[in-house]
Amino acid sequence: MLTMKINGNAYDVALENFDAAADALQLDQNTREVIKYPERVLMVSIPVRRDDGRIHHLEGFRVQHSSVRGPAKGGIRYHPRVTLDEVKALATWMTWKCAVVNIPFGGAKGGVTCDPKHMSQGELERLTRRYTSAILPLIGPDQDIPAPDVYTNAQTMAWIMDTYSTTKGYPIPGVVTGKPICLGGSLGRTEATGRGVFYTIQSACEHLHRNVKGSTVAVQGFGNVGSITAQLLHEAGAKVIAVSDSTGCVYNPHGLDIPALIHLKSLTGKVDGFPEAEPIQHEELLGMECDILVPAALENAIHSDNAATVRARMIAEGANGPITPAADRVLESMGVFLIPDILCNAGGVTVSYFEWVQNEQHLFWEAQDIYGRLERVMKTAFRDVLKLHGERNVPMRLAANMLGVGRVAEAVRLRGIYP
Ligand code: GLU
Repeated sequence: MLTMKINGNAYDVALENFDAAADALQLDQNTREVIKYPERVLMVSIPVRRDDGRIHHLEGFRVQHSSVRGPAKGGIRYHPRVTLDEVKALATWMTWKCAVVNIPFGGAKGGVTCDPKHMSQGELERLTRRYTSAILPLIGPDQDIPAPDVYTNAQTMAWIMDTYSTTKGYPIPGVVTGKPICLGGSLGRTEATGRGVFYTIQSACEHLHRNVKGSTVAVQGFGNVGSITAQLLHEAGAKVIAVSDSTGCVYNPHGLDIPALIHLKSLTGKVDGFPEAEPIQHEELLGMECDILVPAALENAIHSDNAATVRARMIAEGANGPITPAADRVLESMGVFLIPDILCNAGGVTVSYFEWVQNEQHLFWEAQDIYGRLERVMKTAFRDVLKLHGERNVPMRLAANMLGVGRVAEAVRLRGIYP
């Protein structure tokens, strides 16, 4: 298991980041009161029948943080450490994330506290269907649209789509994104988050007058986001020298053979044991001398106790909330260039938006069309954040939060407060 120190809770971090952005924007108190807190929080009980016949009670959540700019949008996470506060934090970040890339969605997140690695497909299906049924009054293509997150995938979305559609009596593919292609999924959605991370790294390298080609990279987390980011960087000529997952870390100073590592992970579920590499400790990866560090696992990976050990020149946050505010300050003083999460990993929700648009219009776009649109959205968002960073002389994270919070505040100003 990864040994990550949890410095405080993710929701406190989300609120602290909001306050900093609201202060920098000199946002009036009334607007803050409206946009800061989740609009709806639902906690559900999920009795799941295990394969041996026992019923196991699990807890699930769905939080809609904001519907100011459009239907609430965000993934569903299955993980043993899911808590209501974590889901509230992730939902809050979704609101600012959708605003940063300027797509017409609000923010939401769901989660179930469970251990998916120790559940069978049948158990996961029963869990997903019961959870869907429990949150059914909240979700819908015009209300709140779930998607994959940690340990959920296209199959999970297919079960949600089926449960929702069966209950309503007709097929409603637009209720979720990240579906299998044959059920109305979009080309390019599976790799969208990693592809978006890659585009923002390209923009950052351009800005810093560096080359992606020849850069050295360390990637923490080798799930969907970490592995795709590593693959695209590898294809672009970067040298990915260290990779970790929850089972271990592997290192090769000459560059890891990423396609081979992805193949091994697909066979064994681990990066551990990769032949052309030496095993290293998790903390060594975070402190690795390299050009680009990509934390793509969970929250709080870089905290006050290990931030000073970071020797990367750039950090691209593939994960949501991987750096605590205290660690942010340390990294900022060290001059590390940060591509903050709500910008860096927004490619996933951006292609989710494309999927939803295709569903609503019964269209099917080509892959090149999706990639081109995604690249434009990500690079425009990067430019917008960088502009604020330069003009206001604020750190990149604060600039991204100012852009996101500012756009939501403007929407509130125009909509007004009901009643
Ligand atoms: N779970 C992803 C995220 O954190 C994607 C959400 C979505 O596509 O709605 O951004």
